[in-house]
Amino acid sequence: MCAVIILLGLWLDAVQSTATVIAPEQFHVVLDAGHGGYDNGACVDGVSEAGLNLQIVKVLATELRNRGCAVSLTRVDSESLNPPYAKNKKVADMAKRREKIRTLNPDLVISIHLNTYPLSSVSGLQCFYANETTGSQDYATAIQDQFNRSGLPIYKAVKPTDFNLVEHSPCPAVLIECGFLTNPRERQLLQTASYQQILAYNIATAVITAKHKSSTIRVC
Ligand SMILES: [Zn+2]
Repeated sequence: MCAVIILLGLWLDAVQSTATVIAPEQFHVVLDAGHGGYDNGACVDGVSEAGLNLQIVKVLATELRNRGCAVSLTRVDSESLNPPYAKNKKVADMAKRREKIRTLNPDLVISIHLNTYPLSSVSGLQCFYANETTGSQDYATAIQDQFNRSGLPIYKAVKPTDFNLVEHSPCPAVLIECGFLTNPRERQLLQTASYQQILAYNIATAVITAKHKSSTIRVC
């Protein structure tokens, strides 16, 4: 019951604080669900990061498409992108994701991940950005500011990352750690469709608003 009230409050905050923002034409976002296939990512109490990352990406894809964005995914199912015979599966998977991004040539890449920490009390969101790509920091800051405005928990300030996929992106790229699987309450929330929708709503609002700052403004 308590979780329901919190979710309702967060949702109302999100809806009331920002009008629906529609993307400029041709705004193409690639969404990357971290891990997959041979690599489950973090796994806590039977909940795997790879599976939840993909769920969140799919909800975010729908939210962005509903607002007029073109959306592509690096991985569309539970499988990673490396060939099964690859010697180093991680390296091959990352190479395939980077190749896909280069071919798609999007305006923005968003990689979705989940965090862990030895202390179960630690929780919250954190955004990272590609240090060398102009615009990445603006998108990461916009997303984290939007989370903050909507009353979502923040773990730490926005930071640059050397995460391979984001760092070597040909376009602005951000990585979002959407919460801690090691925090029981956050782990439970992250598995709910309503919380995934709240995350998607806020990410979409932030990135489209940030995009408008460098192009024609069209808000309704
Ligand atoms: Zn991860």
